[in-house]
Amino acid sequence: MKILLNQQQLEAGVENLADEIKGIYGHQPLTIIGIMTGSVVLLADLIRKLEMPLRVGVVQTSSYRGTERGPLTINSELMLDITDRDVLLIDDIFDTGHTLKEVIQLMKSLGPASLRSAVLLKKSGRQEVHLVPDFVAFDIPDEFVVGYGLDFNDEYRNLPYLACLETADLETSQYPA
Ligand code: 5GP
Ligand code: MG
Repeated sequence: MKILLNQQQLEAGVENLADEIKGIYGHQPLTIIGIMTGSVVLLADLIRKLEMPLRVGVVQTSSYRGTERGPLTINSELMLDITDRDVLLIDDIFDTGHTLKEVIQLMKSLGPASLRSAVLLKKSGRQEVHLVPDFVAFDIPDEFVVGYGLDFNDEYRNLPYLACLETADLETSQYPA
């Protein structure tokens, strides 16, 4: 496994993200929706750097089986009301962009006052949709990454750093697909 972003780099990136978000919303109340499960670590770190009145919710999506994309599923039973609220969607990584595009469409149908999106990572040269997240902490090369919330078959989410998964790692995985 090759480390792409270490703990200090991730911490600094999330700090910058929080500063940009504060720059836009100031002290206005904000509703943050984390796209699970990949954004779980980012969500926990980011919300503790924000000081405005904050509500936090999640939606569950899934599209990967191992390193292969599968059909996207969204569990849309959002447990909090976002009508007329300023909403910020949080995701781990913007890859093809289909996940964020579909979640945005779903959220828009619930009538938020405003809707923006923030991602930790944006993979270069992969986008298939006309959409750019409002906030991006890091641009990364087109490699399959794990750690800091991102998984391979639900493994590695707990790594405190971000790493590229190499062929040898796939062969030794405890949890084969
Ligand atoms: P998209 O719909 O933009 O293609 O993919 C977004 C979702 O796919 C992300 O939220 C993430 O869960 C997953 N994904 C995309 N690229 C990677 C990657 O390199 N590593 C991991 N672990 N997940 C990824
Ligand atoms: Mg995801």
